[in-house]
Amino acid sequence: MNNAIFQMDRPDNEHVYDYAPGCKERKALNAELERLSSVITEIPLIIGGKEIRTGNTGNVVMPHDHAHVVATYHKAGEKEVKMAIDEALKAHREWSAISWVERVSINLKIAELIAKKYRFLMNAATMAGQGKNAYQAEIDAACEVIDYLRFNAFFASEIYKLQPGSQPGIINRFEYRPLEGFVFTVSPFNFTAIGSNLNMAPVLMGNTVVWKPSTTALLSNYFLMKIYQEAGIPDGVINFLPGSGGMIGNIVFRHPEFAGLHFTGSTATFNEIWKNIADNIGNYRSYPRIVGETGGKDFIFVHPSADPQEVAVAIVRGAFEFQGQKCSAASRGYIPESLWEDIKARIKEMISRITVGDVTEFSNFMNAVIDDKSYENIMNYIGYARNSKDAEIITGGKGDKTKGYFIEPTIIQVKDPHFKTMEEEIFGPVMSIYVYKDKDLKETLKICDATSPYALTGSVFSKDREALAEACRILRYAAGNIYFNDKPSGAVVGQQPFGGARASGTNDKSGSYLNLLRWTNPRTIKETLIPPTEFTYPFMKEDRCH
Ligand code: NAD
Repeated sequence: MNNAIFQMDRPDNEHVYDYAPGCKERKALNAELERLSSVITEIPLIIGGKEIRTGNTGNVVMPHDHAHVVATYHKAGEKEVKMAIDEALKAHREWSAISWVERVSINLKIAELIAKKYRFLMNAATMAGQGKNAYQAEIDAACEVIDYLRFNAFFASEIYKLQPGSQPGIINRFEYRPLEGFVFTVSPFNFTAIGSNLNMAPVLMGNTVVWKPSTTALLSNYFLMKIYQEAGIPDGVINFLPGSGGMIGNIVFRHPEFAGLHFTGSTATFNEIWKNIADNIGNYRSYPRIVGETGGKDFIFVHPSADPQEVAVAIVRGAFEFQGQKCSAASRGYIPESLWEDIKARIKEMISRITVGDVTEFSNFMNAVIDDKSYENIMNYIGYARNSKDAEIITGGKGDKTKGYFIEPTIIQVKDPHFKTMEEEIFGPVMSIYVYKDKDLKETLKICDATSPYALTGSVFSKDREALAEACRILRYAAGNIYFNDKPSGAVVGQQPFGGARASGTNDKSGSYLNLLRWTNPRTIKETLIPPTEFTYPFMKEDRCH
C-alpha cells in the first residue's frame, strides 16, 4: 500500500488556442467538425458501465441547421432509472473507500485526454450540438472542463489536509467521508464544462452519481462520458441517463438513499425540484445536500467617469457572445445621460459588423440560439418591447428560424427601469438599457440592486475609485461575482469562483474548494491514548482547606 502523504501543486489554467487562420488547430478542428457532421452518432444510456438501448429514441439537431440530425439518443424509462440508482449504490462501496489519490489520478487523466487526444472532438461536438463558435467552444469544452478537473484535484488535496487540533494524550482526526447514498446530477445545455463538473466534483470526493444530461447538449456530454470510461472511472460511478427530467426526477426524489443534488439550470426548474425534495423529506436516510446554480439578470452599471469605448465593447461581448445564452450574460445596462449618445453610436457601429450564422463560418461572431422553444421565448420578449410605448428597439429585433434559430443582436432602450425586459431572464441576444440622469447616480444604483430577483453577476465601469467603492457597497448583495471595468461573463476556474445568491442559486462557488466541501460528510475521530480508570472527578472530593 502506498502510504505517502501526497500533495497536489496548484495548476496553471489551460492555454486557450485562438484558431486564427492558417494555424494547425483550426485545420484539426474543421476536420473533426466535418467528420461529426457527416455521421449520425447513436447515443445509448450507460448504466453500470454498460451501454443500454431502449429503442425509445429522440434526435439531436444542429441549432444553426435544424434539419441536420447529428445524433439519435435512447431515452431512459422507469426501469433504467431504478437500474442506474442500484448501480450507483453498488459502486459506492468501492469508490468511497479507495484512496483519494487514485481518484485524483483519474481526474488528471481525463483532463490530459481532453487536452491532448480529444480536444477537437469535444470542441466540434459542442459547436455542432450546442451552436458555439470555435472560440466559445474552446473556452468551454476544452479549457474550462480541463481547469475544473485539475483545480479540483488541487482543492481536494488542500481539503484533506485540514485537520482538527490534538492535545497531549489525545489524537483528533477528520475523515472526509463522501455522502451516504447517491448524488443526482442535472446539467444544462449551455456549458459542456458544467455538465462535466456537476459530476466530477462529487465523484472526486468519493461519491457516485446518476447523471441526467440536457437533451440539447447530448452530443458533447456523451463523448465526455466515453472519455471518463477511457480514463478508468469504474463502472457504476457515473451513470449516464438521457431522458425526461421530470420522470427521472420523480423516481430519484422518492428514493431513501438520495443524498444530494448537483444542479445547474433555470430557477423555475430548481424551484420545482426543491419542492419535490421537500415533499419527500421524511423518506430520506440523510438530509440531502442541495446545490443549485440557476438564472441571472446580469447588469453593466456605468459611472459618468467611464470610458465609452470600453463600455461599448463590454456590452457587445457581454450581451451577445454565445447569443446571450450564458447565465452571466449582460442583459441590463444603466448608462448616464452624459455618455449615452456616444456609447450608443459605438455599439451600433460594432453591431453593424456582427454577422449571425453557421458555426463552420469562423467569421460569424454569433450563431443560432439553442432550439425552437428558446427562439419563440426570446422573440416574444422582443415583440413585447416592440409593442410597448415604454421601450424602443435601438438595434436588431429580427429573427429567422427557416434554417437555424437565428436572432439579431438586439438592444432595447427602456423608459422604466422596471420594464419587463429589465427584470426577467430572457436567455438570448437581448440587452435592455436604462438611461439615467447623471445626478440620480446613487438612486439608480439602489434601483439596480432592487430590480431583479436574481443576483448572479454584474459589472461597474468607472475611472473614479471612490465611485467603484460606493457602487460595490450599494450592490453588495446584487451579484455573487462583480467585475470592475470588465464584462460580467467569462469567469475562469481557480481565478473567479462562480455563483450567485437570491434567485440565482445556493452560491456554492463552483471552481473553488467551497463546492467540494458540499460533497463531503466529515466524521470526527477522537482517540484517547490512556483512558481514565476512575469515574469520579476531583471536585467531588471533600474540601479540607477550611
Ligand atoms: P433548464 O432548467 O431548462 O434545464 C436544466 C436541466 O434540468 C436539464 O437537464 C433539464 O432536462 C432538467 N430538468 C427540467 N425539468 C426537470 C425536472 N422537473 N426534474 C429534473 N430535471 C429537470 O435549463 P437550461 O435551459 O438547460 O439552461 C439554462 C438555464 O441555466 C438558465 O436559466 C441559466 O441562467 C442557467 N444557468 C445557470 C448557471 C449558473 O452557474 N448560475 C450556469 C449555466 C446556466
